[in-house]
Amino acid sequence: MSIIKLHDRYFRPYLTADKISQAVTNMARIVERDLQDEVPIFVGILNGSFMFAADFIRSYNGNCEVSFVKLASYENINSTGTVKQLVGINENLEGRTVIILEDIIDTGATLEEIYTIFRDKNLKQLKIATLFFKPDVFRKALPIDYIGVSIPDKFIVGYGLDYNGLGRNLASVYQLTTQKMTNIVLFGPPGAGKGTQAEVLKEKFNLVHISTGDLFRYNIKNKTDLGMLAKSFMDKGDLVPDQVTIDMLKAEVNRNEDAKGFIFDGFPRTEDQAKVLDAFLSEKGESINGMVALEVEEDILVKRLLERGKTSGRPDDQDEDKIRNRFNEYNTKTAILKDYYQAQGKYFGINGVGSIGDITELLSEVIEQL
Ligand code: AMP
Repeated sequence: MSIIKLHDRYFRPYLTADKISQAVTNMARIVERDLQDEVPIFVGILNGSFMFAADFIRSYNGNCEVSFVKLASYENINSTGTVKQLVGINENLEGRTVIILEDIIDTGATLEEIYTIFRDKNLKQLKIATLFFKPDVFRKALPIDYIGVSIPDKFIVGYGLDYNGLGRNLASVYQLTTQKMTNIVLFGPPGAGKGTQAEVLKEKFNLVHISTGDLFRYNIKNKTDLGMLAKSFMDKGDLVPDQVTIDMLKAEVNRNEDAKGFIFDGFPRTEDQAKVLDAFLSEKGESINGMVALEVEEDILVKRLLERGKTSGRPDDQDEDKIRNRFNEYNTKTAILKDYYQAQGKYFGINGVGSIGDITELLSEVIEQL
């Protein structure tokens, strides 16, 4: 399971389908034990409880009747406290045991409405079963008989629960993330102009620019252990081993906790690096918004790099064999990342040949929409 987007919000995995199933069957067992030979009417509260009601009732061993009422208790992600009955119940409930099946109880506004609706129906007894319960925000002195899972006051979707209409069909439950960053992978082969563009874009969008190549070169210049290790690979145009690069990248992200987001330049360069980056950001409730790629033909790039080598002082820019090896590394290990991000609908390719200003403009148009 990974982060999902519904409308404008991101949600991260919270409870697996297995965990939910365990809670539901547990509840069914306890209700069975309490009711013994009684034939209850289970009343599901629509829309949210349809999945819970179906699974609970399927798991319930014993005779029962099933009905539904429809109430609305919230708009958007905040409880409004205004609840009204929309579709009533037609069965004769006199002398019956009614068990309400709710997907979630938070402030208790809906629950209060339910008690009001059923108060004058001369029931034998009314019991409440809710799959999810938010003890921190519950404000009513009303009994809840069966609780599946108590959860913190976070907005959840899935397993019948929605965010503005979406998410009800998900088999597991997701929690709203507080994603606040814009994270961009600036992508393209060596010499495509990533570094040049990143310098402009980081100012324009107030993002932190992390170039793994620059970090390695900084370490080499300062003769750190990391620098010495990286140098042996870089001088040949080989990639530095994943674990070394990943550890360095994570440390750099963690050093910038207050960042509004990052421009990752030269990272990820392998599928493993991309996966680690996704997992690492996901732990922080963040994710990559998009990979923006500068597309340039290889022959143009070789010329550009040799030209740059005259002034950059970079040994890997000065020798055509090393440059060709960097392209070989790119084509065999890095280029596939296009597919990786494309599969998530996050790949945006841009023609990287033209004036610096024009290319910045094209990149900005994409970034503004992320
Ligand atoms: P760059 O400045 O991005 O062209 O990177 C220069 C060199 O640093 C590359 O040829 C690699 O040897 C090394 N390097 C930079 N980023 C990475 C990365 N994400 N994974 C492995 N090696 C890297």
